[in-house]
Amino acid sequence: MTDPDALRDDTVPFDPDCELCEAARYTHWYVEDDVCWIADCEVCSVPMVVWKPHGTDPSEADIEHMMRRLSEVGDARFGEGGWTIDRVMRQIPNHFHAHCRDPRWHQLRMSRPMSRYEGVGAERVER
Ligand SMILES: [Zn+2]
Ligand SMILES: [Zn+2]
Repeated sequence: MTDPDALRDDTVPFDPDCELCEAARYTHWYVEDDVCWIADCEVCSVPMVVWKPHGTDPSEADIEHMMRRLSEVGDARFGEGGWTIDRVMRQIPNHFHAHCRDPRWHQLRMSRPMSRYEGVGAERVER
């Protein structure tokens, strides 16, 4: 087994106690690139973009990039424009992330089957 910490870029801020830094791969991952990753939120079952560095102040360019990628994912998952971006960070206020929510997310969050991790950009599979 390779130690995941050994692969980490030390120049990127990281908090070992932060759930978003941990970036556990349980649910479906839509996208991963140098700036961010997008996976289904384990609480809400909707796509969530997470900035890679630990912190709350991405550059405007990074925010624009993340919102664009999240919009693409939202269109693919919920249909074009069938979603809104929610940038309020309720559970984890110290690490930038945003949700892409369809109008029924709150009503469906308990009943929606959770997706499972099959690889970044793989077909979305529910468990
Ligand atoms: Zn959530
Ligand atoms: Zn973090």
